[in-house]
Amino acid sequence: MNRGTYHVQTWGCQMNEEDSEQIALYLERIGLQRAPTLESAQVVILNTCSVRRKPEDKAFSYLGQLALLKRTRPDMVIGVAGCMAQLRADEIRQRASHVNFVIGTAQIALVPGLVEEALQGQRFQKRMALPERRGAVVTDIPKRAVGRSPKLKAFVPIQYGCDKFCSFCVVPTTRGRERSRPTEEVVAEVRTLCGQGTREVTLLGQTVNSYGKNLAEGRVSFAELLGQLNEVDGLERIRFTSPYPRDFRADLISAIRDYPKVMEHLHMPLQSGSDEVLRRMKRLYTTDEFRKIVSETRAAMPGVGLTTDVIVGFPGETEAQFEETMALMHEIEFDGAYMFHYSPRPGTPAATMEQIPHAVKLDRLHRLMAQQNEITLKRNMACVGQVFEVLVEGPSPKDRRLLQGYTREFRMVHFPGPADWVGKLKAVEVTSAHPWGVSAKAC
Ligand code: SF4
Repeated sequence: MNRGTYHVQTWGCQMNEEDSEQIALYLERIGLQRAPTLESAQVVILNTCSVRRKPEDKAFSYLGQLALLKRTRPDMVIGVAGCMAQLRADEIRQRASHVNFVIGTAQIALVPGLVEEALQGQRFQKRMALPERRGAVVTDIPKRAVGRSPKLKAFVPIQYGCDKFCSFCVVPTTRGRERSRPTEEVVAEVRTLCGQGTREVTLLGQTVNSYGKNLAEGRVSFAELLGQLNEVDGLERIRFTSPYPRDFRADLISAIRDYPKVMEHLHMPLQSGSDEVLRRMKRLYTTDEFRKIVSETRAAMPGVGLTTDVIVGFPGETEAQFEETMALMHEIEFDGAYMFHYSPRPGTPAATMEQIPHAVKLDRLHRLMAQQNEITLKRNMACVGQVFEVLVEGPSPKDRRLLQGYTREFRMVHFPGPADWVGKLKAVEVTSAHPWGVSAKAC
């Protein structure tokens, strides 16, 4: 039954991408089909992000465009979800009266009912569903529908929210307190996905390694969860993001080393190489503690892939403190890094601190990126001549004649090969290195 079409527009992190898939699944269950474009869709859901200012501005710009569209097609249904909806619901209602509903981060399961209401005649409704009261603590675990379209790789949220309250971050406000999904539910979802053809899962959580801390009964640690998932038939690879340095335990290193399905890759946010900046960020670890995790991980697995997140231009960051970040990044030599300049988020302590001029933030970001690009290339060059296992994902978007996949250490590889390799694990030998990854040939 085709009851119309939908489009879900997503900004932000992997958690949002996964939430959008859940929204799409709920909409398909009530008979809607994916629209070829946002403009042609009858139902449009904007799944928003608040982690930086830019995606918020983009979401409001989309809402402006949708207002024009809705003038010509008044039966269009528009919903807003995600972190910005949780945080700025009142403002969305004021600025965008054409929106049918606004939902909070734990309310995805409400989407089909709200869309049904809007489609069944309440087309000009002024009433909008409310997310949690502004500032209220989100404690529900979002309801999830399982049974997505077959995918080689899938995200699986195992934990929602965060208790860390870093001074720059809105997540504890938008996603609420830290809650872990019951272990049996996570394992069952991974089994279902593998039954549908998934070969790699990425476990998602804001501080993923603190998984299990608040499970009511039968507490299972993150390393133990990895052990249980390692036994799932049909699953080839397990990844996770992002562990929090202060909650890092030695048993996680053992799990990565000893469970063959857990990939030898650690993406652990550093954020700054200055202890003083880390203190003001309220990151609750020191650079020496971070160094120790890196050295113990590399001692256990010399070839492990290490990647990180860094923010430059945090309020009050001096040139000398920025240089400490440059020096630590140079010392550790991460395989890759996501680097950002600080973006003040209203309602966070850091937004009230004395800000650094935008030009200074940009200059620091460019310097750090230039250094990291050289390091990444150097580390990719060290792979030339070595053999790696790759999960073949499909044709490379850059060159459709080549296949693309990732090594266990999360290095992107392009290589020639037949189409029937897609979905399989293959051994490849690296032939050349690039800033984005490596080129290889089949062994
Ligand atoms: S650990 Fe800090 S940066 Fe990460 S989600 Fe929690 S509060 Fe935000």
